[in-house]
Amino acid sequence: MSVFKYVLLQQDSDSQARRGRISTSRGEIETPVFMPVGTLATVKAMLPETLKEIGSQIILANTYHLYLRPGHKLVQQLGGLHKFMHWDRPILTDSGGFQVFSLGDLRKITEEGTAFQSHIDGSKHILTPELSVEIQLALGSDIVMVFDECIPHPAERAYVVDSTNRSARWAKRCREILPSGSTSALFGIVQGGMELDLRKQSVEQLREIGFEGYALGGLSVGEETSLMYDTMEYSLPLLPVDRPRYVMGVGTPENLLEGVARGCDMFDCVMPTRNARNGMLFTSFGKISIKQAQYRGDERPLDPDCQCYVCRNYSRAYLRHLYTSNEILASVLNTQHNLYYYQQLMAGIRQALENGNFTEFRSDFYNKREILIS
Ligand SMILES: [Zn+2]
Repeated sequence: MSVFKYVLLQQDSDSQARRGRISTSRGEIETPVFMPVGTLATVKAMLPETLKEIGSQIILANTYHLYLRPGHKLVQQLGGLHKFMHWDRPILTDSGGFQVFSLGDLRKITEEGTAFQSHIDGSKHILTPELSVEIQLALGSDIVMVFDECIPHPAERAYVVDSTNRSARWAKRCREILPSGSTSALFGIVQGGMELDLRKQSVEQLREIGFEGYALGGLSVGEETSLMYDTMEYSLPLLPVDRPRYVMGVGTPENLLEGVARGCDMFDCVMPTRNARNGMLFTSFGKISIKQAQYRGDERPLDPDCQCYVCRNYSRAYLRHLYTSNEILASVLNTQHNLYYYQQLMAGIRQALENGNFTEFRSDFYNKREILIS
């Protein structure tokens, strides 16, 4: 039996922001939460122990990638994803829907599912709602996502209508295939593109089926930030209060803060890890590109306000040296700092919600950035 449960602990009085707690069979998750992305059963350049030290409560893994390589059946034979990658806290797996559309070649969508060719070797596959759930269960996922179509932006309204209805039918098939005694929770994904009436319709379709949590999909797909915020602001309050709300693939530190203010509990994004490997580092006063010549002899820590291992022990000059010399340690240290920054931001948000000063926290966050710019 699933012990999955969401408890709303505090509702902010000035915004939609909420402090909550998710219980899973692999432990509790304090929300709002940021989930580092471990696409191929690894959060790139990070040891699981380090992920825990910096406060990661749950990580995300990728159905599409693990299905193609090394294969979900092999992972299952080897004891499941948690054992395979030495991570004993919760794992959320995405359904593969997004990657089929962004990475797979020669896609063809039918009512059954999506046919595509592997981006690795060109082999042909059909991913269906049933197969997606089967893969996620074989991996041992704690939170399984329904298989859906992530619509590009912009898209013709007629296409968005068809796609949203099909994704709702696929979501129902995912619900039906998940065994009733499963310890895994199943989340529905709200689609509807940027059309608010279709978002509302999608929410209604999903609520009728019933899920342990609800996600907003199809955001951060090239739309303007204001449009993304409007879609969150409209859609999130339509979701049940007693279920976690997850905005998929979002985003920058600003996006996280604004997402929380609009009622979101869960986030994931490759940005802190991918940017780290490209030398883009997040600090309390804005972004830094560590390769810049101005840091060549800079003895200061990356972010004097940051208490992470990297900022306590290394200078900007050293980090620049590692990066420009193409050293492996650059990825390790930069990723550790960026993820720490994200986890500290979420911890700060949770604390502010508990203290009842989220509005103040939000304006302080922006004020610090203005100081640097002015
Ligand atoms: Zn740091």
